[in-house]
Amino acid sequence: MPELPEVETTIRGLATVLQGRRLVSVEARRADLRRAFPPDLRQRLTGARVTGLGRRAKYGLVATDRGDTMVFHLGMSGRWRIDPDGLGPHDHLVLGTDEGRTLALNDPRRFGSLDLVRTDELDSFDPFARMGPEPLSDGFSGASLESALAGRSAPIKAMLLDQRIVAGLGNIYVCEALHMAGIAPGRAAGRIARMRLDRLAAAVREVLAAAIEAGGSSLRDYARPSGELGYFSKQWRVYGREGESCRCGALVRRRSDSGRSTFFCARCQRS
Ligand code: ZN
Repeated sequence: MPELPEVETTIRGLATVLQGRRLVSVEARRADLRRAFPPDLRQRLTGARVTGLGRRAKYGLVATDRGDTMVFHLGMSGRWRIDPDGLGPHDHLVLGTDEGRTLALNDPRRFGSLDLVRTDELDSFDPFARMGPEPLSDGFSGASLESALAGRSAPIKAMLLDQRIVAGLGNIYVCEALHMAGIAPGRAAGRIARMRLDRLAAAVREVLAAAIEAGGSSLRDYARPSGELGYFSKQWRVYGREGESCRCGALVRRRSDSGRSTFFCARCQRS
């Protein structure tokens, strides 16, 4: 599943082809993904110039000179293909630019979404309206965590996955950041000292930045025909490593809660 770093890398890859370009063709090859495409998608995008690309949580943002922003989510299996050799059954939206480049939004499982939102109304777009700070922004810190978590008895892991506390963190990065900060996943969120929350906020930034860097190093692959934007793997500290050695020598453990796995080291993350 594409996580925040994959979306960030995707946006950087798309920017190399889309920034400043005019869209000369827009073809929706079906009516929907998880929900319907906007019925006027084609009229609003055809002829528009892309003025900026960005990201909010796990949503990619493509702004045009007509005051619209295309907001996409890659769901479970979505990715953008640049200049594909040919189009397949899972290429659901195809954009052509004035430089003759082709971009295809490919999503076999169709859990993704694509909306057009007026750029000046983005903050009130439903998924963004109650969203917490971006983890890589200045608005996210030990101080912001301290005020958001005050009095909360829920486990810190669940709180970090709550989009109202911090935007766009998935299971992998939460497991990794808690390990890096030495905090037990089940620790009551409101009872973690400020100094440890500072360390946690720094760890969240660090694991995301490292993953974005790893994705960036694969950016050159995007230039080849059929280059696919979206996925890369990395060596994790605890995620997916149940039974293997933590760097401290203890074995990484896995706990399952409500269908989601938590990977942690009981020695490095005692409390
Ligand atoms: Zn350990």
